[in-house]
Amino acid sequence: MSADCIFCKIAKKEIPSEIVYESDEIVAFKDIKPVAPHHILIIPKKHIPTLDDLPDEDAPLIAKMFLVARDLARSLGINEKGYRTVFNCREEGGQEVFHLHLHLIGGRKMNWPPG
Ligand code: AMP
Ligand code: ZN
Repeated sequence: MSADCIFCKIAKKEIPSEIVYESDEIVAFKDIKPVAPHHILIIPKKHIPTLDDLPDEDAPLIAKMFLVARDLARSLGINEKGYRTVFNCREEGGQEVFHLHLHLIGGRKMNWPPG
């Protein structure tokens, strides 16, 4: 837990969010400013600021986050058409909240390359 971290507060339910999945290690909730019809953020409850800060021993957490993304995409019915999963890392990656999060974005055609 990092005292001023907004996603730690969401994980501890100290500030409201639309939670769509929760386990002992992971929380998923709707992005407050969705960039597509479906936009969910999947976070570890543990405070890890960026992908670059990820300790090797937490690698299983990343696998679990992707499994949550896979299952949520299926339950949203976007798995067959497809979707995008993104980790933004630090300034040039476009990261704004410094608590590791996986974006699950879908419901429209994505562009490549990203902006
Ligand atoms: P990033 O730019 O990868 O750090 O993404 C941060 C994401 O968090 C953005 O898509 C924001 O819209 C989203 N966000 C920020 N604050 C909240 C919040 N309180 N509840 C839900 N999503 C949020
Ligand atoms: Zn945090």
